[in-house]
Amino acid sequence: MSAISSAIIIGGGIAGPVVATALRQANITSDVYEAYPGPAYTIGSGLGFATNGLAALDIIDVGDAVRDVALDLPTSQMAIGTKVVTLPALPSMEPLRIIDRSDLHRVLHDHAHSRGVEFHYSKRLVAVEESPSSVTAIFDDGSRATADILIGADGVKSLVRKLIDPAAPDATFTGLLGFGGYARVSTPVAPDTMTFAFGRNAYYLHWPLPDGRVAWGANLPSETYLTLTEARARGNDEWLSILRDVYADDEPGGELIANTAPEDFEVVGGLHIMPPVPHWSRGRLVLVGDAVHAPSNSTGQGASLAIESAIELARCLRDFDDAPAAFAAYERTRRPRVEEIAARGAKINSAKTLGPIMRRLMPLFMPIVFGTKKVQARLAEEQDYRIEWNTNAATGTTESAPVRTPRRRDSGR
Ligand SMILES: Cc1cc2nc3c(=O)[nH]c(=O)nc-3n(C[C@H](O)[C@H](O)[C@H](O)COP(=O)(O)OP(=O)(O)OC[C@H]3O[C@@H](n4cnc5c(N)ncnc54)[C@H](O)[C@@H]3O)c2cc1C
Repeated sequence: MSAISSAIIIGGGIAGPVVATALRQANITSDVYEAYPGPAYTIGSGLGFATNGLAALDIIDVGDAVRDVALDLPTSQMAIGTKVVTLPALPSMEPLRIIDRSDLHRVLHDHAHSRGVEFHYSKRLVAVEESPSSVTAIFDDGSRATADILIGADGVKSLVRKLIDPAAPDATFTGLLGFGGYARVSTPVAPDTMTFAFGRNAYYLHWPLPDGRVAWGANLPSETYLTLTEARARGNDEWLSILRDVYADDEPGGELIANTAPEDFEVVGGLHIMPPVPHWSRGRLVLVGDAVHAPSNSTGQGASLAIESAIELARCLRDFDDAPAAFAAYERTRRPRVEEIAARGAKINSAKTLGPIMRRLMPLFMPIVFGTKKVQARLAEEQDYRIEWNTNAATGTTESAPVRTPRRRDSGR
């Protein structure tokens, strides 16, 4: 039985509401404190969602609600110039899902709220005070909150990370700026298919929407890092004009961007990757989600890993007698997995910034690389991962629990 009975959660994005809900399920009360003035229901574009992330959400009974708002893409292919390679489907795997970050955030927030979690907005954490028996969060409006532990779910630019270890690394720039949009085009794209496309000058991806439009995302190599605010300041018209030039010779990239209206275009800004963080916790403070392991958008695992870690942290807090033991077990379980996936993401990012010679060679290598049993086994292992919620993290004993079968749409895989 845990000696921890209360938690302060900093950040109400994706990991925040999930860890709060899972803690409730573990009989630990928590409130969420978010810097934004309210739920970010309208910010963010599509993000990839993997089977392992959905399986983790099934533990807190919100997997099906997320499946309902996600778009299933049973087929994935890679296009290098005019050469298209269908990526092997992994047996028994749910389809790749794309979900608007704002929809995911809304579903997770509403579910946490329905389980009794309270969200406090316009509460930017600025400092903490620690005592032997508690931790107090101090917010920018001067207000305070005290609990047994404080969980930093405060994203890639985490303050809690620096409060744990002032020497902690910052997220690094991948050398890519992100953009997204929705186009109305006359040339049809492959139905129910995600296409990862290596264009002549830059990488992009696209997928069809049920309403007939085509959604796309672009990763533009850039020597200069731009925050979201800096990138947005240049305006949608200017970025669309730059992207039209970059993708002009790509099919269908050129047509997609030429047929995207400024109001259907979103600037994501500089894309980040988190180097390994030496200290995941200290005393009564601990990190979860992008604050400790943002694996780069190239993996399609950012949100899924954040959710897995949130649930694993709640499980460890439920089963260990004190915070240091729970935090150590949590880190032991999660660190190898998230660092391996981040390393894979870093390799993909290098491929996105390839020079012209390597780009010409890619059609030769890609089918070989993706067809190998080793690569397929690694991807299957990533997605087959399940958190053992019904097994006690401290003793290893398994309690019988109703076997829950998640509702699945026919994936075609
Ligand atoms: C507004 C927004 C839009 C995004 N859009 C996309 C997208 O389009 N595509 C994509 O792939 N990923 C996007 N992401 C990132 C994606 O949500 C995360 O990579 C992933 O889901 C992990 O979630 P997280 O909860 O760890 O971090 P995040 O989702 O980044 O959430 C962190 C939360 O902490 C809050 N916060 C930060 N500092 C403090 C503080 N000092 N005090 C209180 N609160 C604080 C932030 O406001 C934020 O709500 C976006 C993130 C945000 C915040």
